[in-house]
Amino acid sequence: MTNHLVAVGKYGTPLESVHNIVQMSKGDTMFKKGLRVCIKPNIVFWTRTVEFPKYGVITTSSIIRDMVHLLSEHGVDDISIVEGSVTLNPKDTSRQATHAYESLGYNTLAKKYGVKTVNVFDRPFESVDLGDGVVLNFNTDILNCDLVVDLPVMKTHSQTGVSLGIKNLKGTIDQKSRKACHSADPEKDLHFWVARLADKMPSIFTLIDGIYTSEYGPNVDGRMHRSNLLAASTDIFSADKVGAALLGHDPSEVPHLVHYARNHNRPINMSDVEIVGEPVEALARQHKAYFPYTEDQSLPLAWKKKGYRGISYRKYDLSMCTYCSGVTGAIMAAIGAAWQGEPWDDVEVLSGKMMQPDPVKKHTILLGKCMSQAHKDNPDIQNIHPIKGCPPKKNQIVKAFHEAGIMIDANIIENTESLPGFLMKYYEGKPEFEPEHFKIE
Ligand code: SF4
Repeated sequence: MTNHLVAVGKYGTPLESVHNIVQMSKGDTMFKKGLRVCIKPNIVFWTRTVEFPKYGVITTSSIIRDMVHLLSEHGVDDISIVEGSVTLNPKDTSRQATHAYESLGYNTLAKKYGVKTVNVFDRPFESVDLGDGVVLNFNTDILNCDLVVDLPVMKTHSQTGVSLGIKNLKGTIDQKSRKACHSADPEKDLHFWVARLADKMPSIFTLIDGIYTSEYGPNVDGRMHRSNLLAASTDIFSADKVGAALLGHDPSEVPHLVHYARNHNRPINMSDVEIVGEPVEALARQHKAYFPYTEDQSLPLAWKKKGYRGISYRKYDLSMCTYCSGVTGAIMAAIGAAWQGEPWDDVEVLSGKMMQPDPVKKHTILLGKCMSQAHKDNPDIQNIHPIKGCPPKKNQIVKAFHEAGIMIDANIIENTESLPGFLMKYYEGKPEFEPEHFKIE
């Protein structure tokens, strides 16, 4: 059996740490003059509205800078940074991307090394058949380059358990394909689709950026740690198995990795992986992925502890995609702020594409276009409160909750984009969280 090399180490010194980990993984054997290289960072979310904490959410600019420098040392002079960030307003992706690339220092790389930046939503997509009914539209630049340098964050994910090299490639497909990945087919669910994202890519070198790692990821509301970890491999699956283990997750418990192993006839354990550098067991630390809910999954545990009654806000399922996820945090914050200690009037909130109403509930709020359409004529619903649109319309969110007797503050919903800014306070005065990691001078 072929053994795939994965280098594991710590980030300590600019340029040197990345240089060493790449060399240990033999990744530098892939870097050759004349190649067209696409770097895929993870900028999972962006807003121009406020400064927000990026630790454990976005690939550090330090790693990107060091990688570009190393590629340049090997004579590579055709480098593009390719990303398709989630924005709360899907019509605003170009301006958001320009702002993100400027803020993260990529324009400095453009001046110094001629690096190009690509917002996938401004470029063409190509349809790719990945087998078994999985057809996705990928950004043409990354699909047709010679080498992908995949730079995910070492993070957990509330739906896929972990989000590492394979999952990071979801940022290169179009919106229609992203929604398709969140399929309502239980046999071909999100894990089934995500497992195939790397299958038709050019050669990939993966370096997982664990300077900051996240629990309850993938977004800004997770619990972040300064971990200074790096893991690199010329084999994306091995990199992901090791990245999962470093986050304290056995790869056999990560469904998309299990699918990948099956699809490629590979072991899900580490029997085909050779670790060089530091031992995984010594560095691994448990990072929780899933927000805790009550046993019947009807309420976040934190709400149960606070005594909220008269509401059921069922745990999101795999079919809920980006735009509904994007407003969920603000809705939950608004519900929390509206709680006055008196039970609400038996309200349930349904999301995603698969949930069914409970006929005993007096009010059913349907979040998003999918739920609103699926249940518009459902006789099991006593009082229906649809929130149409994808993304769900803000004014309809407020109207639906008010009609159901939950007097949420419209300002919280209207200013959803400002909410991540409030999380900055948590990081103030904590020297281990260094904003400089997201800048390039
Ligand atoms: S309405 Fe929600 S679940 Fe439906 S496609 Fe849009 S984001 Fe996904």
